[in-house]
Amino acid sequence: MSEAVEMSAVSKVYGKGKSAVAALREVSVTLPKGGFTAVMGPSGSGKSTFLHCAAGLDKPTAGTVRLGGTDLSGMNETKLTELRRERVGFVFQAFNLVPSLTVEQNVTLPLRLSRGRTDKAWLNETLERVGLGGRTDHRPAELSGGQQQRVAIARALITKPEVVFGDEPTGALDTMTAKDVLTLLRETVDALGQTVVMVTHDPVAASYADTVLFLADGRIVDSLAAPTAAAVAERMTRLGAYV
Ligand code: ADP
Repeated sequence: MSEAVEMSAVSKVYGKGKSAVAALREVSVTLPKGGFTAVMGPSGSGKSTFLHCAAGLDKPTAGTVRLGGTDLSGMNETKLTELRRERVGFVFQAFNLVPSLTVEQNVTLPLRLSRGRTDKAWLNETLERVGLGGRTDHRPAELSGGQQQRVAIARALITKPEVVFGDEPTGALDTMTAKDVLTLLRETVDALGQTVVMVTHDPVAASYADTVLFLADGRIVDSLAAPTAAAVAERMTRLGAYV
């Protein structure tokens, strides 16, 4: 099995009747294990909906999503919650850390929620990898934005998830800090074989991926392998994203 995520004819319609909006229209795609995929497209093209459906945060109206071979369609909310806790990791634009918890407590939170045991060696390796080995007792407010996002990445990695999903993970960071965070995500793919799927509107961020998927009006209309920022920006311009 070399697919981390497999989507077949996935459609998502919000609302009913005249006010219905088709956010995804029969999207079929496979995302390879150990790959870094970026998802781009104009505002409203369905990027968030794509990520939410792929990660089991939202249910498609039609079609099937498989994560590591598991069909999500038949799963109830309890099973989906379990899957999200144990088999996927999330990194959001707004970091979403718990302010009252230390770095270490934030990172190990997913393990406590799923009653998993903390593998101390893996915890230390993860904290070192994200460069926070010396700050385990700090609270989020004592850290810079880039450091907070590193905590969120460590939290996403701690369960050794099949896929890490990023929703504009560098959207709140300045250019230099964003570069560090993207380099870190790239390293998790190269060194750990981690699968990463990231929604972004930034061609530079997308250029860290192995493949960029372009969404327009709920469909995958293009893809680009070994992307450069310039090539990504050029395709986005063709999609009318910057008009
Ligand atoms: P993107 O992330 O590319 O900006 P979204 O996936 O957020 O696109 O949205 C795709 C389309 O679906 C848009 O037209 C948006 O207005 C609509 N949409 C998204 N979420 C909802 C919702 N909860 N209810 C109704 N319409 C929605």
